[in-house]
Amino acid sequence: MLIDSHCHLDSSDFDSDRDEVIERAVEAGVERMVAIGTGEGPPDLEAGIRMADRYPMFLATVGVHPHDAAKATDTTLTRVSELLAHPKVIALGEIGLDYHYDFSPREAQKQVFIEQMQVAAGHRKPIVIHTREAWADTLALLEQHWSPHNLPGIMHCFSGGEKEAARALALGFYLSFGGIVTFPKAKDLQKVAVATPLDRILLETDSPYLAPVPKRGKRNEPVFVGYTAQKLATLRNTTFEQVAAATTANFERLFPFRLLAPGSWLPPLLH
Ligand SMILES: [Zn+2]
Ligand SMILES: [Zn+2]
Repeated sequence: MLIDSHCHLDSSDFDSDRDEVIERAVEAGVERMVAIGTGEGPPDLEAGIRMADRYPMFLATVGVHPHDAAKATDTTLTRVSELLAHPKVIALGEIGLDYHYDFSPREAQKQVFIEQMQVAAGHRKPIVIHTREAWADTLALLEQHWSPHNLPGIMHCFSGGEKEAARALALGFYLSFGGIVTFPKAKDLQKVAVATPLDRILLETDSPYLAPVPKRGKRNEPVFVGYTAQKLATLRNTTFEQVAAATTANFERLFPFRLLAPGSWLPPLLH
């Protein structure tokens, strides 16, 4: 079994064949997927919850993406906090800093990031981090505002170097690897993927973005997480099965699903 710990299947890219995409994933053994709830940004905060309510194999997050930080108001943060109590919402995210696009002013990004860390800590739920060209500020803010709470998190689509990996691991974070690690030129990232302890690795697709080789350039979808798992197995000189088992165990350790009735989150087959 594999878990896609990060996908955006609410995207309109899947409007014509969403059910088929999910069925393909489940039939290939990708039995759990996490619907990231950032959607088009506030005021709509329920993109992930809509997926999780509709599809039993989905869990969800809520949160304001750094791109949308300028759209957040006090009402937004209150609503994020309310939605975190939904039984299938397992984390707050994706949140963080994106200095590549700068779609929101950096000061707004930082403020909304800090506020959401406080909300997540109040609920004792992990956070999912998006960071792009903003490692220094992201790690500094995490060390200042998240580390004191002694809670874990996920570095989504990890693409940093050895130093960033070391600091993230020291913070108790899991490194989630996506399609980029399969790209031939990603040698430094591949070194990190080999050096990271197996019990701190997760897998994701970030569908519909960043499809792994050999699907690079195409629309990404959860079933392709298998290519990333196979690449990690090859890089680490181990088996696909070991990578699948370890990443699934890591996910279950990180998200014990205390709030759910026993068995209720297990994925029934479609149909
Ligand atoms: Zn992201
Ligand atoms: Zn994402």
